Amino acid sequence: MVVKSWYNGYSPKERDDKFKAMKKLLAKGELLQPTGSCSLCNDNEVPLEYHDEDYGAPFIWEPPALLTLCRHCHRDKLHKRFSRPVAWLAYIAHIRRGGYARDLKDLQIKKEVDAYKAAIEKNEAFVLKSLRPYEHEIGKEWFANLRMDIESLSDPLARARK
Ligand SMILES: [Zn+2]
Repeated sequence: MVVKSWYNGYSPKERDDKFKAMKKLLAKGELLQPTGSCSLCNDNEVPLEYHDEDYGAPFIWEPPALLTLCRHCHRDKLHKRFSRPVAWLAYIAHIRRGGYARDLKDLQIKKEVDAYKAAIEKNEAFVLKSLRPYEHEIGKEWFANLRMDIESLSDPLARARK
């Protein structure tokens, strides 16, 4: 895999450099394959992959620079927040009612999240039913205030370390 796009103000080259360093550490066993629960939806029974918020050198291999995410949270939600901001906001609300990514396979739950999206578009209030207890402080999560403007991808000010 060669990274071709910018993220959080890090260039494709910087991202690729960290990605290559990660591959080496994983091969040597100095970095373990991700385990535990998804850093976004908190599901602890789902395969995980690494996601970097910070590609700066020297590289940091722990949260919040390096996070473990399930595939759906990582590829379908987090990286698509720029083109689908309403879906991202609705997804955060889903997570905060104790929802996992995989819950969206349940048609009833998916419909409810879609109704939430429609409510956002109309600027109406809509409360999602609680699915599980939520263990994090709302608004203090690493993902609570991520930039959603497309300019942030290549904006040096978006870098985690200035
Ligand atoms: Zn997840």
